[in-house]
Amino acid sequence: MTNILVTGGAGYIGSHACKVLAAAGYTPVTYDNLATGWRDAVKYGPLEVGELTDRDRLDEVFAAYRPAAVMHFAALSLVGESMADPGKYWRNNVQGSLALIEAAIAAQCLDFVFSSTCAVYGDHDGVVLDENSPQAPLNSYGASKRAIEDMLGNFGQSHGLNSVIFRYFNVAGADPDGEIGEFHQPETHLIPLMLDAIDGKRDALTVFGTDYDTPDGTCIRDYVHVMDLVDAHVLGVKWLEEGKGSRVFCLGTGTGFSVREVIEQSGKVTNREVPVVEGDRRPGDAVKLVSGSRRAREELGWEPKRSVMQTMVADAWRWHQNDGAHYSA
Ligand code: UDP
Repeated sequence: MTNILVTGGAGYIGSHACKVLAAAGYTPVTYDNLATGWRDAVKYGPLEVGELTDRDRLDEVFAAYRPAAVMHFAALSLVGESMADPGKYWRNNVQGSLALIEAAIAAQCLDFVFSSTCAVYGDHDGVVLDENSPQAPLNSYGASKRAIEDMLGNFGQSHGLNSVIFRYFNVAGADPDGEIGEFHQPETHLIPLMLDAIDGKRDALTVFGTDYDTPDGTCIRDYVHVMDLVDAHVLGVKWLEEGKGSRVFCLGTGTGFSVREVIEQSGKVTNREVPVVEGDRRPGDAVKLVSGSRRAREELGWEPKRSVMQTMVADAWRWHQNDGAHYSA
């Protein structure tokens, strides 16, 4: 069996990646500090607890499992927090990734799949983005991810590291089998917060800004189903196995939904009222982040199957209602 080292395998996206890797015949090995991830979310392959910045621990894990590739999900990823505490983002994301990349190279593991983000772009007057759009991050989270992208490029030139970089747009939904799903503590993301408001776990959803220059005044995002997103990662591993070299891919759908549209769709899917209050803008938010997926479709053969708003909300809602499935450890 081929081992793949999955950093952040106990988190939302990483845990779904482990499931599809296992289904594709790989053994996912989760490396996670359990700061924002959950032991209970690791259902496929072993869990190795460790810090990204702990080079000795990383060397030990690379030596024990000899992974063929790394999938690097582990990161702090909250725009608001990154504006309040940039040092935390530069230390954890950038320093941690540097240690991981150097450990991978030392272990001769030269295939690397990296979770980047549309936050590397910043605002672009509403254009649909692609891999060549200029990068001007508005927040420390996006800046930290851009720095790691640059780092991967440099180590590619100097040490032959091959990287597939995926720039995610907004990830939503849950495993349709109901085995794993999204559970953050504290939660900050739009759809899970809204589902909490719908079933009375919180008073109301606050809409962050209603005076943006968009048709209904709220921010627009491109939502991708987590299962489609992780399918792309398996294709990324195969791309690297085939020796196709380093490449950046945007993972979006080309369709944007405003915050108000997501609220409306969620009301329809759940058949419930969504309690909403209007609030101020959140620092660091771009007005609109939408991307095409032409390169991923044409070159990787990626075919999103569940990235339809109603399906994403329905899958998230099913998981959300299953209290027993919320992780406790
Ligand atoms: N948002 C909101 N209220 C919330 C959480 C998010 O209005 O309680 C908005 C946020 O300003 C952004 C969109 O919903 O326009 C998606 O935010 P999220 O935090 O889910 O993802 P991000 O775009 O920051 O990655």
